[in-house]
Amino acid sequence: MRSTRRTAELTAAALLEIRALSVQFSTGDGPVYAVNDLDLQVRRGEVLGMVGESGSGKSQTWLAVLGLLAKNGHAEGSVRLDGEEILNAPSRTLTRLRGNRVGMIFQDPMTAMNPFLTVGRQMTEVLQWHRGLSRRAAEARCIEALTAVHITDAARRLQMYPHEFSGGMRQRVMIATALLTEPQLLICDEPTTALDVTVQAQILALLDELRQRHGTAIVLITHDLGVVAQLADRVVVMYAGRQVETAEVHTLYGAYRHPYTEGLLRSVPRLDEARAERLATIPGRPPDLAQRPPGCPFAPRCAYAAPICAQQMPPLVALGPEHLRACHYGGALKSEARGA
Ligand code: SF4
Repeated sequence: MRSTRRTAELTAAALLEIRALSVQFSTGDGPVYAVNDLDLQVRRGEVLGMVGESGSGKSQTWLAVLGLLAKNGHAEGSVRLDGEEILNAPSRTLTRLRGNRVGMIFQDPMTAMNPFLTVGRQMTEVLQWHRGLSRRAAEARCIEALTAVHITDAARRLQMYPHEFSGGMRQRVMIATALLTEPQLLICDEPTTALDVTVQAQILALLDELRQRHGTAIVLITHDLGVVAQLADRVVVMYAGRQVETAEVHTLYGAYRHPYTEGLLRSVPRLDEARAERLATIPGRPPDLAQRPPGCPFAPRCAYAAPICAQQMPPLVALGPEHLRACHYGGALKSEARGA
């Protein structure tokens, strides 16, 4: 697990500032509320993890930021990148932003790459479009970028098609492509989910190396708490489109204070524990996002729920300088009480 070593190095100024972000989708059955009143910052050079189950709003948050919501989606609020408002900016502005100041890496590189074009063609076009480089200069830069992500024989590989690469190699190509324009912010949505454990570790090490070398801020969207523990400085836990807990990574894993975070962590196998206990699961299912009950959306699944929980939405409250939580419960969590 990462320690606080980097936190002190991070500048307090936010690179990206999200304020009161809400994302809705219009459907035949009425509106679906995917993200609700979200406030958060991404600081320069940090890795911000965002975790939660499917439907927690973690991916839709970043699709909204990048102007990539589905046609029936609508975002409100404010998103400032280096002070410039970008939420719902004109598509021309957002197109220049994506792949230039903000890079993106997705779970399956095959969906993001054109199978009919060589890797070299796809990579050089990024530099020709965003930086106005000549083909020859762009190729030289692409060879450097592939070499930086530890792809050998890069000049030859530029002539190859995506299907000629393994899954791990394709993800390296995606990372190299995303970093060609030296973006300030790299958004990685489940970047290692499709990869086996060994390749996953290599990709995480590569992201960490590139972050340290270039100072790129990284948003790591994942359902995998093990991935977050390896790379993140801070973690945002999302549930039903809401931020329920945010903390530095060591605090979140060692001194979490939200029942949902407790449930997520207790459902992850730990190699450092000899307990022969069965892994816990969170009972029930995430709520229907078309409904907006007045109280805490986790209440039907929560072992700590009290009558107030179904009536009033818990506000997000600071428990410490870097620790936020939205929960009415004031006592010790069960896993704290037994020292788990
Ligand atoms: Fe559980 Fe109530 Fe806290 Fe929600 S507010 S997580 S229902 S204790």
